[in-house]
Amino acid sequence: MKLQEKYEVVIGMEVHAELKTDSKMFCGCKNDPFGAEKPNIYTCPVCLGMPGGLPVANKKAIAWTLKLGLATNCSLNKFSKFDRKHYFYPDLAKSYQISQYDIPFCYEGYIDTPSGKVGLTRIHLEEDTGKLQHKVINNKKVSLIDFNRGGVPLVEVVTEPDITSGKQAKEYGKKLRHILRFLDIANCDMEQGGMRLEANISLRKKGETELPNYKVEIKNINSFRFLEAAINYEVERQAEILEQGEVPVQETRGWNAVKSQTFSQRTKESAEDYRYFPDPDLPPFHFSDEYLKEIKDSVPELPESIAQRWVKEFDLPLAKAIDFSSVDSEKLLHWLESILRELHNKKLDLVLFINDYTNKKIVIPSRAQVKENTNPSEVVKLFEELHSTETIDEDILNKTIKEVLTNNTDAVEKYNSGQTQIIGFLMGQVMRTLGKKVDPQVIRKAIQVALES
Ligand SMILES: [Zn+2]
Repeated sequence: MKLQEKYEVVIGMEVHAELKTDSKMFCGCKNDPFGAEKPNIYTCPVCLGMPGGLPVANKKAIAWTLKLGLATNCSLNKFSKFDRKHYFYPDLAKSYQISQYDIPFCYEGYIDTPSGKVGLTRIHLEEDTGKLQHKVINNKKVSLIDFNRGGVPLVEVVTEPDITSGKQAKEYGKKLRHILRFLDIANCDMEQGGMRLEANISLRKKGETELPNYKVEIKNINSFRFLEAAINYEVERQAEILEQGEVPVQETRGWNAVKSQTFSQRTKESAEDYRYFPDPDLPPFHFSDEYLKEIKDSVPELPESIAQRWVKEFDLPLAKAIDFSSVDSEKLLHWLESILRELHNKKLDLVLFINDYTNKKIVIPSRAQVKENTNPSEVVKLFEELHSTETIDEDILNKTIKEVLTNNTDAVEKYNSGQTQIIGFLMGQVMRTLGKKVDPQVIRKAIQVALES
């Protein structure tokens, strides 16, 4: 029996994403760590953790976190607060991170993936840390620190251990990124670290329902492809250890993209004690019903539900609808919908349009930036022109065909000897001679008649 058939994979994920607010989470510093010209230019006493610096929570970041919660089917806590999570690390000047402990803003949601539903345990808001750079300057090894990123609002989305394969982990990550981008609250630039993936992976024998007594954490993965590869590698590695009657070590591992292997970073026997306690500088939140309703009203209709609507309204196949609605911008999606509506009203072929659009057969002026400003009717017109055919006088058509057949006796002979596919060539010749766009089926029929008479 294959090892993969003997074991079941249990994966939970933690995803961090930086919110794209104008200012940082607890101070007025500019939130633009990747665009900064120099290190440490967007800093102040608060985000540098200096004595006397008092944090003030960013209202927009909180509203966006609640919005994300609603878009991922979470319940919201009407009472919530920020807590201090204590640990020493050079990229965290205060020696604690402001995060959320027992009462996160959002809890118990889910995200649907093609491989099944993934439960969300919680979504909470915290601040990002600074960025360490290890370099060699003048033959000396040095560690440099850039606090432009320190204090940037960071959401953390934690799943239940519902993910059952590397493939599903990738599907989940992509779906979450799509939602974050569609809500227009995060750029999720993975290469820069604007979105970071972690997976907790363990195996249990098929049929077992309890969680395994160990888990291996893979940290700091910055691409979905690496995530899938790292999980697949871990599944094989752990299955081999379990086969030998041993239990994989509970540890944190990294991913070496060059060797396509995970490697041990540090062992973790038990949960760290961060000595969380409520941040005394930040008063807790009591969200009013009015406020929460306001947030609810600000959540746009999501691509998934728009796709379902298209299936009903426009009679589109579900897969096509999902595909075509998977765009990152709400404005673009509404624009696409208005085109589909006009096509539908004119009883034109929507699937053909989607194929043409996807294959870039319909070229929209200034496609890159302002295409949403193009009048939908103009796009429909382009589509109609692409498929328009002219009517042709039958006598002219037959005369042209006769001429083409006379000039291509080789092809006619081939046709008569059974190589009927040569008709394609003859059709091309006829069309070229006509210099008009005539329905190919009309031409084909007329040539067939001429050849067989
Ligand atoms: Zn600051």
